[in-house]
Amino acid sequence: MRDFEIDGIGMTSRRTRERMIQRLVDQGIHSTKVLDAVRTIPRHIFLDEALAHRAYEDTALPIGHNQTLSQPYIVARMTEVLLALGELSKVLEIGTGSGYQTAVLASLVGKVYSVERIRPLQEKARQRLSRLSLNNVRLRHTDGVMGWPEESPFDGIIVTAAPGDVPQELLNQLSPEGGRLVIPLGGSEVQNLVLITRKGDEYQRKVLEAVRFVPLLTGVIR
Ligand code: SAH
Repeated sequence: MRDFEIDGIGMTSRRTRERMIQRLVDQGIHSTKVLDAVRTIPRHIFLDEALAHRAYEDTALPIGHNQTLSQPYIVARMTEVLLALGELSKVLEIGTGSGYQTAVLASLVGKVYSVERIRPLQEKARQRLSRLSLNNVRLRHTDGVMGWPEESPFDGIIVTAAPGDVPQELLNQLSPEGGRLVIPLGGSEVQNLVLITRKGDEYQRKVLEAVRFVPLLTGVIR
């Protein structure tokens, strides 16, 4: 049976979604793979019902607990940067939140490991991911500054909340053979999206653009 809620109607219909894809193209997202993934994953099921009709607007939206689902452009851009040099088999995400970015990644890479510090958000994300039958995702309730050492190294790491500085553990857990870390860095007002590429013991940094994320916080919430 088709799940009509996943398919979407009205403000969540295919046509509405297609307009979002066109906007992403206009904003400079070129990767067909990324555009297809964003086209396929229904953003509206990652929001509470009262906000679902706004899912395909080009804006960040609240998901509770003072957190937000990132703007579609940012999700697409970070994913495109992460995948720019080819396919990735293992990716770590810090900040599962709604699970939307996790879902987009899961449709593009071998396996996604995603950590979240707020348990109720993680539980909701888990339900949504299983509803979409995305089975190549593992979730963990933990403070993301520690990464996921047992599963390292990762070909890619994506951080969806902003620390002041790069957590050392994340650098350690990047694959020495070209592992890529995409991370917003800075305080609450000004942040830059930064790409860090590891080759052996060398870490090359490239500043991409100004962004605004919620802060990376420490400790966990049950
Ligand atoms: N990728 C998410 C974005 C959510 S906002 C989405 O698509 O919806 C950022 C998320 O990072 C929040 O859920 C927040 O609780 C989480 N976060 C912040 N600091 C964290 C930390 N130290 N460890 C793990 N998760 C963290």
